[in-house]
Amino acid sequence: MDIQLIDTGFFHADGGAMFGAIPKTAWSRRYPSDEQNGCILAMRSVLVRDGNGRIILVDNGAGNKHLKQLSYYKFFDLVDLKDELQSRGVACEDVTDVVLTHLHFDHCGYTTQKEVQPDGKHLLKTTFPNATHWVSRAQWENFLHPNALEADSYFIENMQAVCDSGKLRLIESDTTLCPGVDLRLFDGHTPGQIAPYITTSERTYVFAGDVIPLAASVSPLWISAYDTCPVVSYNEKIRMLEEATSKKQAIIYCHDAYTRCSTVKKVNDFFTVDQKEQK
Ligand SMILES: [Zn+2]
Repeated sequence: MDIQLIDTGFFHADGGAMFGAIPKTAWSRRYPSDEQNGCILAMRSVLVRDGNGRIILVDNGAGNKHLKQLSYYKFFDLVDLKDELQSRGVACEDVTDVVLTHLHFDHCGYTTQKEVQPDGKHLLKTTFPNATHWVSRAQWENFLHPNALEADSYFIENMQAVCDSGKLRLIESDTTLCPGVDLRLFDGHTPGQIAPYITTSERTYVFAGDVIPLAASVSPLWISAYDTCPVVSYNEKIRMLEEATSKKQAIIYCHDAYTRCSTVKKVNDFFTVDQKEQK
């Protein structure tokens, strides 16, 4: 089992939004920000090769279709994922599975791409034509019928071509994708977020998605204002962290621009980052 983290690009988010009710005097000690409270966030993706023919991509960043509409976020250092995968010996056609933790724009934007037709018209095509695309049914329903808080985070253009191609696989509950890769569901940030659990010979890596987006979010009370159900987020984080501490699992932080991965520990009922890992 081979795991590689890929930073697909970075953007700016408001630190107040990222840390919700936590005062800046507290969060600014744990995450850098500029004078306007702007924090730099990564958009991290994971490439998993199981050694048995499965090539799995987890999340794929914001892509390039909606950058104008999303200019508020000041994206930078965006990589062309196709070139990035190629440099790692993987063609888009080789990808067997795309796992989308959830369908907010910063996680699934590269799932489809615009292709210019001979008549000058644009056609949206799936970027990974042979891949099964894994999404939870709860997330898919929420995507099709979003609540007011999440509506602006969803773009139908990111997923319509996948749905039309018949390559969308909706899961209702925790599911094994292949031996060593389990897809587990967590609510709170958004309904039915998938956290892939990837087990190598060394340990299990948890791609925590927006359940725990930053190393600074390991404290269960440090909940983003983007989470639609914060009390649920709190309980779900504890569920993830209890297991991660007892089984020495490593958490991959999808949005942390400074810490990509770490184990966690529990000291006197407080969860904290333990050993950071350069993945
Ligand atoms: Zn999200």
